[in-house]
Amino acid sequence: MKVCVLGAGVVGVTTAYMLTRAGHDVVLIDKASGPATGTSKANGAQLAYSYVEPFASPATAKKLAGFFLGTDPGIKLGMSLMPSYWRWGVRFLRNCGNAEYKSNFQDREALAILSRDTLDKIEEEMPAGTIPRTGKGKLVIVEDEKSLKGLLAAQQVMPSQVNHLQILDSHECAELVPTLKSGSRKIYGGLYCATDEALDTQIYCETLLSANIRNRKPTVKYSESFKTIEMSGGRVSAVITDRNSYECEAVIACLGGDTNKSLNGFIRPLPIYPVQGYSVTLPATSEAPVCSITDLKHKFVIANLGDKVRIAGFMDTNLSPKRSQERANELLEMAKRLWPGIADYDAEPNFWIGQRPMTPDGLPVIRESKTPGLFLNAGHGSMGYTFAAGSAAKILELVGAA
Ligand SMILES: Cc1cc2nc3c(=O)[nH]c(=O)nc-3n(C[C@H](O)[C@H](O)[C@H](O)COP(=O)(O)OP(=O)(O)OC[C@H]3O[C@@H](n4cnc5c(N)ncnc54)[C@H](O)[C@@H]3O)c2cc1C
Repeated sequence: MKVCVLGAGVVGVTTAYMLTRAGHDVVLIDKASGPATGTSKANGAQLAYSYVEPFASPATAKKLAGFFLGTDPGIKLGMSLMPSYWRWGVRFLRNCGNAEYKSNFQDREALAILSRDTLDKIEEEMPAGTIPRTGKGKLVIVEDEKSLKGLLAAQQVMPSQVNHLQILDSHECAELVPTLKSGSRKIYGGLYCATDEALDTQIYCETLLSANIRNRKPTVKYSESFKTIEMSGGRVSAVITDRNSYECEAVIACLGGDTNKSLNGFIRPLPIYPVQGYSVTLPATSEAPVCSITDLKHKFVIANLGDKVRIAGFMDTNLSPKRSQERANELLEMAKRLWPGIADYDAEPNFWIGQRPMTPDGLPVIRESKTPGLFLNAGHGSMGYTFAAGSAAKILELVGAA
């Protein structure tokens, strides 16, 4: 079948890969000049299958006032008069109930496991080491016993994952991350998952697109903006860009936060709100942790990218450009203070600001739209890299065999 995939972020690239692998003739289209230039660009780089707790939870609901008042260093929710913000907020609050939280957590876990299994299968067909992981394992650290208990209680919601997790005390954390021995940082303990991984998303996308996919490849069209869809006999029949027209029998929209704007009229609006995050990438030192770190209290992650270290995190809404730049600096200053020695902080920092395409329930939208033949794969929030392979597998199931 001829299929157009719109958007070459991690989700679109992985979707194009899976459809090509299944024998479909795929055209992958992006308005940018290369893959992973949107939210996928300089994210936390973590394939974090073991830690997929949804943000909407009873615990988050209790802290909302602090997020709005600005007292939480990791989350700043600015005010907005936009009705879409408040509509999204009401739906988010509904998902903070205990039953909704558990159900969303379990659905995220299932998608994470499907993603891990799907990426394993993809890799089995490649020469060993084709997808070059730089970070191995993931440690979620906490500063006190209460936080560790909370973390463990949350993980009980996903029992099959718990088997992969090890509880570490502060000494064991320091054995794993030697920089903790020398720093002044007080750690109570953590949860470690040896099978989680890290890799720069742009390298991941370029690797998938240049791989030999069962002797086939998708046709990739960069610097082309999607404009509209042509219909014939009540189904999609072509994608029109600002440069070309592509006949197709199915369209998969992987447009992240641009989905509603780009597909106006073809879909019912999706509940996606941009939640801003930041990253700073610096040269690594010999003390850079090999495993990824999630610093739960301060809401950022650290990833080893080989010769570089990436610190990424915070969750903000509706901040001014000036305040956003300040927040990126705050992330750098926090990393310097809490994790001295892991990066060359004297080097020129490479800052990035990205918008997570968040849904209220923390689950991506993966389904056929009201337009027959137009499928949606969007709204992956803070886990799009982790969920990309599983989401692509689900799309393949919906589209069917070639
Ligand atoms: C600070 C931060 C840290 C993060 N860390 C992690 C992490 O460690 N692990 C993890 O799993 N996730 C992480 N995420 C989340 C993850 O980055 C996103 O969920 C993911 O990148 C979404 O991918 P996407 O392909 O859906 O969207 P995008 O990457 O935004 O891709 C959408 C693409 O559509 C293209 N496009 C838009 N409109 C058009 C048009 N009209 N025509 C053609 N092309 C168009 C854009 O150019 C873009 O390339 C993080 C996010 C942030 C902000």
